[in-house]
Amino acid sequence: MKVDFHVHLEEGPYSLDWLVGQACALRPFLDEKEESESRGWANELVKGLAQRLQNGPYSREWLDLYRARAKQAGIVQVCVAEHLYRFAEYRPYYERHVRVGDDRLGRAQRRWLAQMANDSLPAYVAFLAEERERWAEDGLALRIGIELDYFPGGEDVLREVSGQYPWDVCMGAVHFPGGWGFPVRDVQEHWERVAPAGLYSSYFDVLEQAIESGLFDVMVHLDGIKAFGPKPDETALLPYYQRVARALRRKDMAAELNAGYVRGQSLREFSPSFRFLQILAQHEVPITLSSHATAPDQVGQHLAEARAQLKRAGFAAVAVFADRKRSELAIG
Ligand SMILES: [Zn+2]
Ligand SMILES: [Zn+2]
Repeated sequence: MKVDFHVHLEEGPYSLDWLVGQACALRPFLDEKEESESRGWANELVKGLAQRLQNGPYSREWLDLYRARAKQAGIVQVCVAEHLYRFAEYRPYYERHVRVGDDRLGRAQRRWLAQMANDSLPAYVAFLAEERERWAEDGLALRIGIELDYFPGGEDVLREVSGQYPWDVCMGAVHFPGGWGFPVRDVQEHWERVAPAGLYSSYFDVLEQAIESGLFDVMVHLDGIKAFGPKPDETALLPYYQRVARALRRKDMAAELNAGYVRGQSLREFSPSFRFLQILAQHEVPITLSSHATAPDQVGQHLAEARAQLKRAGFAAVAVFADRKRSELAIG
């Protein structure tokens, strides 16, 4: 059975590239209506974009595009897991743990957090809970997830978020090692200044603390940091991979194969890397599978290759979650 267990309905920042990305996502659905690249087609595209912006990401029309794409790809289960930083209620949590000082990079991070935090967490959960019924009638399972940023000392807030809503899955991530956000473009210059060895050791230390906290069902994109800044030789990272795999096994927590990492970056690999994946398989760590789509046209993208890679690494099944309980499906 095919699944896509980590997609986003929206991801800023709201740049010109973002707008083009949204237009590209709408395009396959428009091509069915109007002759491609005709004036009528351009008109429909602009109308579609205006509707997308007015209604926001938590609208039936937008989510229906994800459902249509999933059906087309033969995917029977989709888990939406938005980033906690997208929700205005949790902006103070991020401002407490991310470096937002009064220097240039601190201000850039504060601005980035403000640009991202547009929606309300209870409204997001209520929207998906309602839509879940329609997906079920259509023979598809829609799972409700959240991607939580772990910071040492932030455990109480995360415990509250995970306990307050009827999540199918709580995903843990480290996007801000040492308080610096690797998705924040202006912070790239900071990564280029630090020695890769120190950066990776502090990243993996925080990742291990996140696993030990026991707050999450699955840790996502375990080596996501590799998409940003300088990279050490992978041989030097093998002891970290072993430590992380052992910690996941000990806490009975799953990891994720995130295929989205091949998109838009110079990397031509998924996260985690194949060697990391083999180590996870050796330790019998359960694994989820995701396209990490941030728009409907990306649902299921690269997953055939990812499933083949899982088998090659030694996995026979993928993990899925409902009501925070894990089960396994044979790799489809
Ligand atoms: Zn992430
Ligand atoms: Zn994500």
